[in-house]
Amino acid sequence: MLRVAVIGGGPSGSCTAETLAKSGIKTWLFERKLDNAKPCGGAIPLCMVSEFDLPESIIDRKVRNMRMISPSNREVDISLDNVYGKSDNEYIGMCRREVMDAFMRNRAADLGATLINGLVTNIDTGNDHQGPYTLTYSDFSEENNKVEIKKLTVDLLVGADGANSRVAKAMDAGDYNVAVAFQERIKLPKEEMSYYENLAEMYVGKDVSPDFYGWVFPKYDHVAVGTGTMQKNQSLIKSLQEGVRNRAQKRLANGEVIKVEAHPIPEHPRPRRVVGRMALVGDAAGYVTKSSGEGIYFAAKSGRMCAEEIVEASNNGQTIPSEKDLKNYLKKWDKKYGTTYKVLEILQNIFYRNDSAREAFVEMCDDMDVQRLTFDSYLYKKVVAMKPLQQLKITFLTLGSILRGKALAPLKYKPVKSAVREEEEVDKMLKNFSIKGGIKVKNSKV
Ligand SMILES: Cc1cc2nc3c(=O)[nH]c(=O)nc-3n(C[C@H](O)[C@H](O)[C@H](O)COP(=O)(O)OP(=O)(O)OC[C@H]3O[C@@H](n4cnc5c(N)ncnc54)[C@H](O)[C@@H]3O)c2cc1C
Repeated sequence: MLRVAVIGGGPSGSCTAETLAKSGIKTWLFERKLDNAKPCGGAIPLCMVSEFDLPESIIDRKVRNMRMISPSNREVDISLDNVYGKSDNEYIGMCRREVMDAFMRNRAADLGATLINGLVTNIDTGNDHQGPYTLTYSDFSEENNKVEIKKLTVDLLVGADGANSRVAKAMDAGDYNVAVAFQERIKLPKEEMSYYENLAEMYVGKDVSPDFYGWVFPKYDHVAVGTGTMQKNQSLIKSLQEGVRNRAQKRLANGEVIKVEAHPIPEHPRPRRVVGRMALVGDAAGYVTKSSGEGIYFAAKSGRMCAEEIVEASNNGQTIPSEKDLKNYLKKWDKKYGTTYKVLEILQNIFYRNDSAREAFVEMCDDMDVQRLTFDSYLYKKVVAMKPLQQLKITFLTLGSILRGKALAPLKYKPVKSAVREEEEVDKMLKNFSIKGGIKVKNSKV
C-alpha cells in the first residue's frame, strides 16, 4: 500500500492530504505549528468557496468594492454592484489564515489523513532521490511540552512547505527569486472600521512599491495593511510600508498595530518541481501570480491536482507512481494556468513600471469592460475571451491612459482624505498620533 507524506499544513498541503485520504491512501500531514497565522492578506476568489467547499464561518468579510488609488490619489471603484448588479451572491472573501488553514487541515484529518504536529528537520531521499524517503521530525504532540525526535519512512513525498521549502532543498529543485511582503494588522476606531465593512483598498505609486501595490484589506475586527516588492528592493520594504501608512493615514487615524509580519513570496516556479517521487505544490513550487500576488487558490488547486494524479497513477494507492506519472500533474498545471501567469506578468511589467503607467492603470479600471474582465477572471478563474470590438476599445483605452498618465503623475504624494470624518477633526486626531505601534522608520527614501 502506497505511503505518502505531505510536509506543510497550509492550503496546498491540506488539499493534497484531503484528496489522498479520501481515496484511502495512507497519508501523513506534517504541520510544525497548528495555530500558524501565515502572513497573508487573506483575499480569496469566490470560486474557491464552492470548489473547496469552504463554510461561511471562515470568511470574515465579503468585499464587494475594490478601491484603486493612483499615485495622485485618484480613486476608482471596481465594484461588484456595477458589474453584476446589487446582490450578495458575488464577493471577494477576506479570511484570517489561522482560521482558514486550521479548518482545511482538520478536515483532511477528519477524512483520514494522520495529522502530525511536527517540524520536519531532515529528509533522506534514498538512492538518486528515488526513495523510499526517511523523514526526521520533532514531534510536538507529546504531553508536558516534551519534544520527541522521530522518524518516518514513506514511498512518496509532497512538499507543501511554503517559500522556504525544505523539501525543495532536499530534492535539489533549484532556487527561485522571491519578493518580500510586509504587513501590519491594525485595529481601528469603530467609525474608521465601518468604512472598510465591505471595501478593500489598493494603493499604487513609487512611494508604496516600485513594482507591486500596497493594500488595506479588512479582516474580522481589524485591517491588514501591507506592501510587497521584489528581492532587489528588499532593503526598502519598511520605508515602503511607511509609504502606505502615510497615504492612508487619515483612514487609519488612531489605529493600533496588533501584529507585524513579513514573509517571502515566490516570483516564479522553481526549475524542477518533480524529482523522483517528490513533488512540490503551492508556494514551495512557486505558484503565486504576478500583478495580484494571489497564491491561496493556486496553492489549494495545485495540491488537489497533484494528489489527483497520485490517486490515478497509483490506482488508489495500490502501486507506487513513477517520476513520469508525477510529471503529468505539471503538464496539466502548466496547460491550465500557464497563460494566466504570463498575462499577469505582462500586466505587472506594463502597469507597475512608473507613476505615469500606474495613473493609467487606475484610470483604465474605471471602464466597465475592464471591470467585468477583471472580476470574471479573478472571481471565477475563467480565461475570458474578449470580443474583437472590446479588445480594440481596451487597446485604445490603454494607449490613451498611458499618454494621459504622464501629465497626472504627481511630484509628491499626499494622504488621501478621510472617508468618515471632517478634515479638521482628522487633523486634530493626527496631532496626537497617527498609528500606535508597529514599524519605526526615519528619513525613509524611496
Ligand atoms: C504578506 C502576504 C500577503 C499575501 N496576501 C495574499 C492574498 O491576499 N491572497 C492570496 O491569494 N495570496 C496572498 N499571499 C500569498 C499566499 O499567502 C501564499 O501563496 C499561500 O499561503 C501559499 O500556501 P501554501 O500552502 O503553499 O504555503 P504556506 O501557506 O506558506 O504553508 C506552508 C505551511 O508549511 C508549514 N511548514 C513549513 N516548513 C515545515 C516543516 N519543515 N515541517 C512542518 N511544517 C512546515 C508552515 O508552518 C506552513 O503552515 C500573500 C503572501 C504574503 C507573504
